[in-house]
Amino acid sequence: ATPTALLTGTGRGAQLGILIKGPAVLEDTRRADTIVLDKTGTVTTGRLTVEHVDAFESFDGGDTDRLLRLAAAVEHASEHPIARAIAGTQPSPAAVEHFASAPGGGVRGLVLVPFAEQGGAGHMVVVGREEWLGVSGVDVDEPTRLRLAEAERDGATAVLVAVDGQVAGIITLRDAVKPGAADAIARLRRLGLSPVLLTGDNAHSAGHVAAQVGIDADRVHAGVTPAEKVAVVERLQADGATVAMAGDGVNDAAALAQADLGLAMGTGTDVAIDAADITLMGHHLGQVADAVELSRRTLGTIR
Ligand code: ADP
Ligand code: MG
Repeated sequence: ATPTALLTGTGRGAQLGILIKGPAVLEDTRRADTIVLDKTGTVTTGRLTVEHVDAFESFDGGDTDRLLRLAAAVEHASEHPIARAIAGTQPSPAAVEHFASAPGGGVRGLVLVPFAEQGGAGHMVVVGREEWLGVSGVDVDEPTRLRLAEAERDGATAVLVAVDGQVAGIITLRDAVKPGAADAIARLRRLGLSPVLLTGDNAHSAGHVAAQVGIDADRVHAGVTPAEKVAVVERLQADGATVAMAGDGVNDAAALAQADLGLAMGTGTDVAIDAADITLMGHHLGQVADAVELSRRTLGTIR
């Protein structure tokens, strides 16, 4: 294609809310035959709601309000969709010191007033998945694991909460598939792109979403860390695929950079947008298909 045609293509993209980093990106868009989709915030709305708080009997006799307040205080410092949902339950969160977080893992911090009365210096609170609690020095026993699996059973997302070194409860959250996601994925299939779902969330939740949007069960990778997301993309490429990937989180950035074509949701974090070749300002998956159609119109479908 001529430089003029490429510039016209990127200009048309901008009109459609598809921000393309450079004219050369259109070539990778046209060639893609696999579309890897992050789940939370990409296929789903990412606007989670807290559905249930399960405080263990061992934690203040099962004080759910206090458990949620402690968890919300640490989550306040994170921009993860889970964090926004939990922090959003408390209008004035307690102060936190020694905050730490791991993308795809969770958060922790020392929660100060007004909870300091019982513990003096405050309470060390850890929220996230089992591996993250382990890294933070909290053991997760078998009964807790079963309780977590039960919370996740019908496709919810559940996180563990530990207070002062002991698992204190489980917070269950619910997300919804974006309207039009199933149609968009069907359209991508018609354009010759095979969909893959990739998520750090649990397998039940991932399977539930995959079934709703028409992604095959054997093309779902759940419970993967940000580094494993990169490895999944690399493996597909090693098998000969030209991989487009759409994502929105800090946890997706490295995989977006590894993909032949990275697409970031406009609602996503800056790190994801920086790592991607295309930013989708309409925030929906139909725009991925729009981008592919645009590239093919601009460049023609024959090489
Ligand atoms: P996804 O790939 O679905 O966007 P992530 O890789 O960001 O998910 O997170 C994977 C898992 O790590 C989450 O399902 C959750 O269990 C845990 N996690 C990540 N960030 C947080 C957080 N801020 N608070 C609690 N748990 C978290
Ligand atoms: Mg995400």
